[in-house]
Amino acid sequence: MKEQDTLNTLKGVGDKSTALFSKCHLYTLGDLMEHYPRYYTRFPAPVSFSELKEGESAAVIASVHSRMTIKRTRRLKVCVMKIKDDTAIREIAWFNMPFLANVFHVNQKFVFMGEVVRKNGVLTFQHPKYYTLEEYAQLQNTYQPVYSLTEGLTNRFFCKCVAQLRPLFQQKLEYLDADYRREQGLMSLSDAFENIHFPLNEESIIEARRRLVYHEFFRFFHYMDSLKEETARQPNSHVIADSNKSRELLSHLPYKLTNAQMRTLQEIMTDLKGPYVMNRLVQGDVGSGKTIVAVLALVAVAEAGFQGALMAPTEVLANQHYETICELTRPLGIRCCLLTGSIKGAEKKECCRRIAEQDVDIVIGTQALIQENVNYARLALVITDEQHRFGVRQRERFLQKGNHPHVLVMSATPIPRTLAMMLYGDMDISVMNELPANRLPIKNCVVGQNYRPAAFRFMNTEIEKGHQVYVICPMVGESETTEAENVMDYSEKLSLALPNARIATLHGRMKEEEKNSIMTAFAKGETDILVSTTVIEVGINVPNATFMLIENAERFGLAGLHQLRGRVGRGEAQSYCVFMYGKDSDKIRERLEVLNQSNDGFEIAREDLKMRGPGDFFGIRQSGEMDFKLADIYQDASIMTLAHQHFQELKESGVDFCAYPDLKWQPEQTLAI
Ligand code: ADP
Ligand code: MG
Repeated sequence: MKEQDTLNTLKGVGDKSTALFSKCHLYTLGDLMEHYPRYYTRFPAPVSFSELKEGESAAVIASVHSRMTIKRTRRLKVCVMKIKDDTAIREIAWFNMPFLANVFHVNQKFVFMGEVVRKNGVLTFQHPKYYTLEEYAQLQNTYQPVYSLTEGLTNRFFCKCVAQLRPLFQQKLEYLDADYRREQGLMSLSDAFENIHFPLNEESIIEARRRLVYHEFFRFFHYMDSLKEETARQPNSHVIADSNKSRELLSHLPYKLTNAQMRTLQEIMTDLKGPYVMNRLVQGDVGSGKTIVAVLALVAVAEAGFQGALMAPTEVLANQHYETICELTRPLGIRCCLLTGSIKGAEKKECCRRIAEQDVDIVIGTQALIQENVNYARLALVITDEQHRFGVRQRERFLQKGNHPHVLVMSATPIPRTLAMMLYGDMDISVMNELPANRLPIKNCVVGQNYRPAAFRFMNTEIEKGHQVYVICPMVGESETTEAENVMDYSEKLSLALPNARIATLHGRMKEEEKNSIMTAFAKGETDILVSTTVIEVGINVPNATFMLIENAERFGLAGLHQLRGRVGRGEAQSYCVFMYGKDSDKIRERLEVLNQSNDGFEIAREDLKMRGPGDFFGIRQSGEMDFKLADIYQDASIMTLAHQHFQELKESGVDFCAYPDLKWQPEQTLAI
């Protein structure tokens, strides 16, 4: 058995499950090993109804008090039943599970387990799991891993597959010596894999995770180091002088650059004409105006007779950049083209021809820009927008499209300089810590769902002023197991409440073409309200949008919420953001309150970190930075530093890392958009 073996070598895995696994980007045994649990189900000791606490996960032994009744709503079958223990009688409900009526008989005892919610003023369960007393006794105090999978793959089946991998865990080659591990409290790689998938207790999960996070960072630094050759300071073979066209563009802009933009632009221009190839990271909070700085650099490159390319993580964003950049550069006689995944056939061929024959100066697109069959005639500058959404491998491929082109990466993720230096190797860093002067700070509020009618009224006044609105829901469609708001049902609800508003919906399951046309219509002001999932999180810029309502805000990480909020407050009008929670608890409100208090990405990231406990990491993650599966660059900053130091030490002492195949970095980038 080897890690490279395909999944059909496992017992019970045939063509059908192989196909399902590939949907989750799992192809080999090694992939499966590194598909870590998303969280663990715990089976706490049962308590009575009177002891329940809102928002916690709990179990109660109760007997069935009344037969199940099934109420049909338009879309749902709501199955309701009363259960009873020594302290109370409570109503519990499931959705769309009418067969349960045959499972429960009056007076029978079961253990009901789930998250405690408040319904009609009392604490109860919704959609609880249920077990016979014997079943529960076996499970109590264990930790059952729960994996993110796709429909058709059950968690149970997945666990069975992972169980077959246990011999592989034992074969892991250890690259850290025992003394060092003991000193630093790092378990062996073998034990870490064993414990993350088959934990004995909470402590073993925390320790296993710590080692695997260390492993991710160590492997990352090793990979970065192997790239050193390519990224080492190269002499500048594309010297780009000060540009008249950039200056002209600047003088026609309807605004003045901020000091931070000015400084960054100067740093870039100095690099471009300097003795070495540029290798620069621009870090600027949402709305700080990174795009125009990139455009000014691209214009200078075009004027000097070279090509520049800008890569964005989503088609929607690439399209938007294309529109903006065309408009800005057309008067200067600069030619742009767009290349994305949905551009196919003859159109794509023509696009590739233009790129190869330098019939175009600026190329804008998605990862399609770095496909094998795209060849650039004179590529001198590559820019990645929202770099944190890509992996290092993309950055490397992009680089190879030219002959040592200048590199500019832009990110809205606020990370401290010390961390940025580890993660971005030897890049120079420009920080844009200033918002354009014409901006009014966004007004925020954190409220419960009872505020919704008021929010709708407010929305309406904004629309009447000619402004536009985003509503963010966590789900695309109705789900059987969660009550969170979904885009489909929500737009119906909204159209009843605001019959005159023009409402559009947007979510990740739509075809790219469809997403693009909806986004374009919204940008042109043809729709008033966009009900969307977080697909709009990255980069989207519609300055006329002044109101954002985020439903079930408790389901998102603070950094993600901050990025989302950054979609408003991009023009001169006062903007508003309403964070609405679906579930209420002190902890949830306290967390969201951070956003209410601060509009500074750095501060928000710091506060978020402070609030999280050691066992919190399987909850809401920051927006999965880089390619890391477990590691969180904020929370795990100290492990990152440790791994970085030790990697340098080992390298200097001459360790041959080739002996450890595990250190080969094979990130398969999957953009969840
Ligand atoms: P981000 O840094 O989030 O990528 P964008 O580049 O999308 O921000 O810019 C946001 C908006 O601010 C755009 O509409 C852009 O035209 C505008 N903008 C950029 N710079 C300035 C400035 N100095 N003054 C006023 N508005 C600006
Ligand atoms: Mg941007």
